[in-house]
Amino acid sequence: MTALFDRLVVLTLPLVPRPIVRKVASRYVAGDTLEDALDTMRTLAAEGAMGTMDVLGESVTHRDQTVATREEYLRTIDAIAASSLPANISVKPTAIGLAIDPALALENGAAICTRAASHGMFVRFDMEDSPYTEATLDLVLALRERFEAVGAVLQAYLRRSLSDLDRLLAKKINVRICKGIYVEPRSIAWKDRETIIRAFAALVDKQLAGGGYAAIATHDEACVQLALATIDRLRVPKDHYEFQMLLGVDPVLRKSLLDTGHRLRVYVPYGRDWYAYSTRRLKENPTIAGQILKSIVGLGPAEA
Ligand SMILES: Cc1cc2nc3c(=O)[nH]c(=O)nc-3n(C[C@H](O)[C@H](O)[C@H](O)COP(=O)(O)OP(=O)(O)OC[C@H]3O[C@@H](n4cnc5c(N)ncnc54)[C@H](O)[C@@H]3O)c2cc1C
Repeated sequence: MTALFDRLVVLTLPLVPRPIVRKVASRYVAGDTLEDALDTMRTLAAEGAMGTMDVLGESVTHRDQTVATREEYLRTIDAIAASSLPANISVKPTAIGLAIDPALALENGAAICTRAASHGMFVRFDMEDSPYTEATLDLVLALRERFEAVGAVLQAYLRRSLSDLDRLLAKKINVRICKGIYVEPRSIAWKDRETIIRAFAALVDKQLAGGGYAAIATHDEACVQLALATIDRLRVPKDHYEFQMLLGVDPVLRKSLLDTGHRLRVYVPYGRDWYAYSTRRLKENPTIAGQILKSIVGLGPAEA
């Protein structure tokens, strides 16, 4: 019954007033400003975690917006370097123009990588929905020709990912492995939960066995356990992989991984363009209905 109600809330999420979405989703976002993100990073660093900062915004349709995002990334890179915090950056390719023109995304991506390289900082390009899979891999592979510290993401739910990994492994590209968050058709994506977990484990295994660096991005205990078993079986050194988790999700699992000596990085999004990211997070939150209801009933002065 509760699960049914949760699904109903997910379906009607577009009708929920933005101040309520904002309130419930605030744990997933560091805040509106770079200073908010740096504050969050300081707290995480005190826990022993690393971070990757994301300037919120995606599916941009105007060139001017891509320039503004690029400039914000340059500011972020400089601020991280000046702070000496253990952080790097994650970039959504459509935020820097992939949906407008791949050449524009390459130009903006190169500017971001140039600034990051000047500080010895790593840049990861997130993976978005399937119309952009091929173009995103092309973007990362093109940037990898010019920059050492560039990484990609593969989504375990996509049937193509295991073979896409061959192209990335051939160039020794650092790969974040995640389940994938977008709604994809069954013709190209696994749908069964257990199958996705097995696909996730297969990607981790292939990347690590091939000598690549794996960023294991999950809060699913089954995925974490399978990855730990692979790390143990292959005797992978601690500096050849890291776990990654989203801000606001499962601090208990986060602490247990840190306490047992694994490297762990938290995804720290910030910016005013919070809505699309936040609603994706709410949709995967198992207790979304209760939290939205509590917020409606007990809504004090809502945030803007
Ligand atoms: C660092 C990082 C980067 C990512 N980058 C990408 C990317 O580039 N492209 C992409 O498509 N996807 C990305 N994702 C999202 C990912 O694909 C999954 O959608 C997300 O991580 C949930 O999958 P899961 O493995 O945690 O398993 P799930 O089965 O979804 O979750 C396992 C458990 O974690 C908890 N949980 C998970 N999500 C939430 C939440 N939002 N709120 C509260 N509890 C939650 C619940 O207890 C749940 O039962 C990223 C995830 C992480 C951690």
